[in-house]
Amino acid sequence: MNESHQLGFGTKSIWAGEGSDSWWGATQVPVVHSVAFGYPDVSVWQAAALGRKPGHIYSRNTNPTVRAFEEKVRILEGAEAATSFASGMAAISNTLFTLLSPGDHVVSVKDTYGGTNKVFTEFSPRFNIRVTLCDTTDAAQIERTVGQGCRVLYLETPTNPTLKVVDIKRLTAAAHKVGAIVVADNTFATPLNQNPLALGVDLVLHSATKFLGGHADALGGIVCGSKDLVHKIYHFREITGAALDPNAAYLLLSCMKTLHLSIRQQNESALKIAEWLSTQPKVSAVLYPGLPTHPQHDIARCQMRGFGGVLSFMLHGGFPAVCEFLPRLKYAYRAANLGAVETIAGPPATTSHVECTPEERAAMGIPEGLVRYSVGIEDTADLIADLSSALG
Ligand SMILES: *Cc1c(COP(=O)(O)O)cnc(C)c1O
Repeated sequence: MNESHQLGFGTKSIWAGEGSDSWWGATQVPVVHSVAFGYPDVSVWQAAALGRKPGHIYSRNTNPTVRAFEEKVRILEGAEAATSFASGMAAISNTLFTLLSPGDHVVSVKDTYGGTNKVFTEFSPRFNIRVTLCDTTDAAQIERTVGQGCRVLYLETPTNPTLKVVDIKRLTAAAHKVGAIVVADNTFATPLNQNPLALGVDLVLHSATKFLGGHADALGGIVCGSKDLVHKIYHFREITGAALDPNAAYLLLSCMKTLHLSIRQQNESALKIAEWLSTQPKVSAVLYPGLPTHPQHDIARCQMRGFGGVLSFMLHGGFPAVCEFLPRLKYAYRAANLGAVETIAGPPATTSHVECTPEERAAMGIPEGLVRYSVGIEDTADLIADLSSALG
């Protein structure tokens, strides 16, 4: 794809990574289920193995279908390189364990995804990696902590499930002053709403399981950034083995062709639903970066093109009220995932922070009486009617 023209996200979603001439003119990327790739000529084989000629050797390393998926996300994120993984958590853990060594210091925020939080609190200390988790919205505190020196600043914005927004540009500048590498989890925003690399971060990663794979039929993860950094992470993954399955890559690719349409609909519905919920007497709070009342709305407006498809809200009556409310929804799965074309609702205890104890959730400032509502691509009016009747 010629990147000298500024193509729109719709054209990129459709065409990026597609149309390789090695596919016999197939208009859809085939699923190459082959574990290995054969070379009758040993010198050609060797050139491919050493990366001097294009070609694939073994599907734990690279695979043509997987490569097409990496290309699509790479171009949407405006990155030099991308490498993929079996899941979002594989992308996160492989990235962190590529960058970090014993004795290193990581600075992050309290509100990262539950699995990421576990990597920081349970596994990192075993490898003598020191982690400081700062208050997500206290930029000055994060800057001070980063200023004391760190190897990695790890950000996630908007956060799951409380939709806090961190100032990517400001914190990246602080981290780069001390020579740290900045990693951002862009799962909630998607490349269509936010491009952290353009705001200065070094690596952007996704759980492709969510919006990128909005048909919710495949797990996957991806990290994008400079050739140099991505190659180091690729090498770690190639050896440790959390490769993306070609069939999953195919499902993600096929879903991503309509990503720009889904995201447009989800942005639009989520904002309307957040506004409507704000007027409901049974709702005590609505968390959505697109609302002018959101504490970091101005930062969100600066760094996001749209505010995403996930919102959270609290009901008067806490967790018991949530347990009564959720089963009354007609057009929502009560499930652990998010970012699907179907609306999905659930409390943090069974979704984002299922890995954590109630005490850990409390320490992270995650209320038990919260409902995370991931807006699908159904008609907005039908979702509002459904919420209205479930609220009673
Ligand atoms: C789901 C999620 C992950 C983990 O991704 P998996 O594909 O489930 O491993 C990481 N970060 C965020 C923000 C997520 O929502």
